[in-house]
Amino acid sequence: MQCGFTQRLTPRDDDATALRLRRLFMAIYSYLFVWAGTAAGVRLNLFAADTPHLYLFGGILTLNGVFLALIRSGYSKRWRDPSLTLAQMVAGIVLTTILIHYSRELQGALLTIYFMVMLFGVFTLSRLQMMLMSLVVLICYLGMVFYEWYLAPRELLTGATLGRFAILALGLIWFVYVGGHISNLRARVRRQRADLEELAIRDPLTRLYNRRYFDERLEEELARLRRGQHHFFIGMVDLDHFKEINDTHGHGAGDAILCLFADCARNFLRESDLLARYGGEEFVVLFPRGEQPDIEGVAERLRLAFAEQSPRATPDGTPVTLCVGLSAGHPDDSVNTVIERADQALYQAKSAGRNRVIFHPEDAVKVNR
Ligand code: GH3
Ligand code: MG
Ligand code: MG
Repeated sequence: MQCGFTQRLTPRDDDATALRLRRLFMAIYSYLFVWAGTAAGVRLNLFAADTPHLYLFGGILTLNGVFLALIRSGYSKRWRDPSLTLAQMVAGIVLTTILIHYSRELQGALLTIYFMVMLFGVFTLSRLQMMLMSLVVLICYLGMVFYEWYLAPRELLTGATLGRFAILALGLIWFVYVGGHISNLRARVRRQRADLEELAIRDPLTRLYNRRYFDERLEEELARLRRGQHHFFIGMVDLDHFKEINDTHGHGAGDAILCLFADCARNFLRESDLLARYGGEEFVVLFPRGEQPDIEGVAERLRLAFAEQSPRATPDGTPVTLCVGLSAGHPDDSVNTVIERADQALYQAKSAGRNRVIFHPEDAVKVNR
């Protein structure tokens, strides 16, 4: 249910908080509904005439107002359970117990409210938490039975009281069972979503990041640069005469070389460097730290290491070489322009005879100024 009032209180840019608030509103509407029922019940003599429903529901709605403020302000995010599900459920269970105490013939029927509260947790709590909440229900219910016995000792434990307790216990076992099942399903869906997210940003052959992911990260790096935080460099890598490898040794041998390069570069680069497969036999590296000479040094050593390792990936032991074009990011760059300068430097390396690293001349001037 989503009316104008709840819509206004729900943030648009924070889905998780919006969902938490929607669930809280659902609880608040349920309390209003049960309040109306209780007030009618008191008039119809189904509840004790002295049922303090004004205080009870006034209190619970005030408490929910506090929950609302904690969730809406984002304060509850500091805690392990930002939805405050457990606290909301305990409040609901205590209220239900008090209502059962004041009710007359409705005692058995009101047990369903416990189940409504448990339903609230079934989609978010773990099996252990559901067990804990069931225990809270049983303790509250037994506490009420003993309190009533204390008030009127002769009416101790009638068959109906025992029957209600048994039904309650059975219902709670069912909730723990189903809750655990749903919790397992949720965990599976979470794992599958993580796998899918990983698939969407990885190249299937080399397991390196793909171009889409790289461009997104580069965009973030440019934003950081514009805020004046630090500079960065881009290295565009292209394997030399790769078409010949495919033509001579077959596509499988070509794939093995691509994987070898990926392994070699992975071992070579720092954790903070971002390596991606940009296209066919082109790779790209984002160096978010370091100065021009360091980056040129890293690219040079990568070139040498690959040339040394590549013969073991070609059937006849031919070394495969590579070129690297380097550029530096500028505040007025877009993803395309900074990549384009790395590409121009790469083109120069190819024209100059391949198997070399070239830093874009304009960038070298700007960086060294
Ligand atoms: P250059 O030295 O100028 O870079 O020459 P090149 O042959 O490497 O350049 P070109 O761009 O003409 O050839 C790239 C080749 O890479 C062509 C394509 O068949 C091959 N290629 C692209 N993707 C893959 C792949 O996933 N696996 C294999 N085995 N080959 C690929
Ligand atoms: Mg190419
Ligand atoms: Mg090439």
